Amino acid sequence: MSHFIDVVLPIPLEKLFTYRISKAESEFLQVGMRVSVPFGKSKIYTAIVCRIHEQEPIIYEAKDIHQILDDTPLVTKHQLAHWQWISKYYMCTVGEVMRAALPSAFILESETIISKNTSTVISDENLKDDEFLVYEALHHQSSLKVHDIASILDKKHVLPVIKRLLEKEAISIQEEVYEKYKPKLVRYVKLHANHASQENLQVLLDELRRAHKQREVVMTLFSMSAKTKKPVKVSELIEESQASSAIVKTLIDKGILEAYYIQHDRVEYSGGDDEASKALSKPQDVALSEIKESFKTHDITLLHGVTSSGKTEIYVKLIEDVLASGKQVLYLVPEIALTTQLVNRLQDYFSEKVAVFHSKYSTHERVEVWHNIFQNTTKAQVVLGARSSILLPFQDLGLVIIDEEHETSYKQFDPAPRYHARDAAIILANIFKAKTLLGSATPSLESYYNAKQGKYGLVELTTRYNNVMMPDIELVDIKDKHKRKRMKGHFSDRLIAEMTETLEEGQQIILFQNRRGFSPIIECHTCGHSPQCPNCDVSLTYHQYRDQLRCHYCGYNTVMLKKCDACGGNDLDTKGFGTEQVEKEVSALFPEHKVARMDLDTTRGKYGYEKIITAFEQQEIDILVGTQMLTKGLDFRHVKLVGIMNADNMLNFPDFRAHERSFQLMMQVSGRAGRTDTRGKVLIQTYNPHHQILQQVSTNNFAEMFKEQMDERHNFKYPPVYRLIKITIKHKDYNRVNVGAAWFAKSLRQVFDDLVLGPEFPPVARIRNQYHKHILVKMKPKQSIVKTKEAIDKINNSFSSIKDFRALRVIINVDNY
Ligand code: ADP
Ligand code: ZN
Repeated sequence: MSHFIDVVLPIPLEKLFTYRISKAESEFLQVGMRVSVPFGKSKIYTAIVCRIHEQEPIIYEAKDIHQILDDTPLVTKHQLAHWQWISKYYMCTVGEVMRAALPSAFILESETIISKNTSTVISDENLKDDEFLVYEALHHQSSLKVHDIASILDKKHVLPVIKRLLEKEAISIQEEVYEKYKPKLVRYVKLHANHASQENLQVLLDELRRAHKQREVVMTLFSMSAKTKKPVKVSELIEESQASSAIVKTLIDKGILEAYYIQHDRVEYSGGDDEASKALSKPQDVALSEIKESFKTHDITLLHGVTSSGKTEIYVKLIEDVLASGKQVLYLVPEIALTTQLVNRLQDYFSEKVAVFHSKYSTHERVEVWHNIFQNTTKAQVVLGARSSILLPFQDLGLVIIDEEHETSYKQFDPAPRYHARDAAIILANIFKAKTLLGSATPSLESYYNAKQGKYGLVELTTRYNNVMMPDIELVDIKDKHKRKRMKGHFSDRLIAEMTETLEEGQQIILFQNRRGFSPIIECHTCGHSPQCPNCDVSLTYHQYRDQLRCHYCGYNTVMLKKCDACGGNDLDTKGFGTEQVEKEVSALFPEHKVARMDLDTTRGKYGYEKIITAFEQQEIDILVGTQMLTKGLDFRHVKLVGIMNADNMLNFPDFRAHERSFQLMMQVSGRAGRTDTRGKVLIQTYNPHHQILQQVSTNNFAEMFKEQMDERHNFKYPPVYRLIKITIKHKDYNRVNVGAAWFAKSLRQVFDDLVLGPEFPPVARIRNQYHKHILVKMKPKQSIVKTKEAIDKINNSFSSIKDFRALRVIINVDNY
């Protein structure tokens, strides 16, 4: 009898592929192990075993596998089931999901580029002969492909050698690596334990009778620690005692004082063991019991808790319960780089049980986290990660927390799989019969609608922790201010007055502007021409700092023009404004205060985000100007005032979700104000203060926003009432896109009739020299998802079998955001 396996290959194949194996191999292999297989004329891939069976394929002759790569499975059956679901629901191939799920070190293939791992030194005796040959070759050549290694070793089956070298950390796979941020170390000082008791201290002070200055330092330290009950920084001690650093050093050298470091941004006075979680306030406690109650009847529950209501502490209590039962927790956040604060908080409570998964960490680190989760070790009981962490090999998931569930960054745009991590996480939880808690101060219409329909449980938390009042939100009519000459640049007199007062109180300010750069449009006063990107249909943004014009779609840049390139006139005007201009104006208005900017341009470098967040936390910055990055759940203690520079460009964005999105952004950024004890203040500058969304923001009226927006979604047949599938046709030739998109839409209309919209060019129709045209297919509430997708697939197949259309790219995006 012959034996076969069906495998997933990490390439876009519609079906699983079948290979022949020997009897011995069939006895050894298990589902979830890797094998290396030949594919096509000369390619080698790493594949995952999905099924072991004895049915020979009918259509093609099954090839033999090359080799088995694992002794035990690397992927779980639950994962394979989840991948299948993602591939069906989001209309992509399982291979594409596999590629997104596995760290690149797991999917060696002919094209993989290998180089020496320069961060370790491996001695030769630890390497087998074939490993040594490869390692040696990498001394002479900085990188090698799998094919090169095959010729060095003069054999075909080389993936196992590479795999072993990877495990020994002798080599690395080429990749973009993101380095983890180590917060700057702050030096602290305390009395050496020998002198800590009252009597010993007395003896010490007697000994230091003659060293007058040293004695002074010891006494100052003693009284500082007694007063604040907090660790004392070396710098604070020097300042307080007016001593020189040399004296402190002498005391440390003599063993009287002891210096130490705490690697935390926010220092708590604790021994270093797990800290006890905080006692919940009454409203938090009520919410927690309601969540537990809700979980009895609903596997999915939405916690709608206003900003700073203390949702995190509630999550912590739920996590404690799940850990006690020995199960794993997945804690999803929209953007891991912005969560240093949260990572620290969770590590305080759960220390080494927290594993952080970041798709940009090095392969070695990702591989380590993968194994820890797979083996369900103590090191991976709480997995904190962004979108792609839903693809990890959980063994025994008990709870999934999706924080800031409304965030659009949970949806993957490009490449496939274009999944929504919130929705895919719910499916994952379901596979494990685990509970899911969605949390947000501004839930998505999708989730709130599901809760209102009874599909999800709903728990509302309406007060801030510590009973701090919600910030006072004031709308400032800048049309009127302009008319009455009450504007300085983009700042109204109201905003300047509030800023002045806040700074006088020693409090901090956040200014929000949803555009980066200096100004998005440059216009010639003489002829009206404005410079455009040569690759995209969009105006270039002026970046004053670098004196450049830049395209925000493709990255194209050029030096700022001195003259209009159309008419030669030298009267160039700027229109609209971005964060750079706000920063510049605010520095001129408040020259004695420290201003910083947080947007894509300032956070690109190493630790970009962390440096700014830490500096703001430690009050080294007074005024922080930024884009929507500022809205993502950050918890700053001293922000009193938030200014939204211009609400109108968000509201006018051409998208059916623009109003919902604007409400969320403004509520979230407002929520950064007044989080400790005094009430915060928010000023929103707008040309249109009567806009219903601004009224709803200023009165914190989520319910009304929800109702009005849902009415619109009902009327215009948009999500969450209808589902949307967006089909994009893409090519560099404008006419071909037109003809192809028209054909596609016509075929769709024959099936779906008036549920098809378009084809239509988006506002920016050409990006990187590729024209895009969109077609939307709407699905009625009870329409069969499976049948709809089958019909679309069929049309797509006919489309790509037409010769003229073959070169066009078709992108299908389910539940498009
Ligand atoms: P949210 O996520 O709802 O915006 P957070 O969980 O960040 O709110 O809490 C806001 C602030 O209140 C945090 O600084 C947090 O440490 C503090 N806080 C919340 N709950 C408690 C509690 N029970 N005891 C002490 N501090 C708390
Ligand atoms: Zn461009």
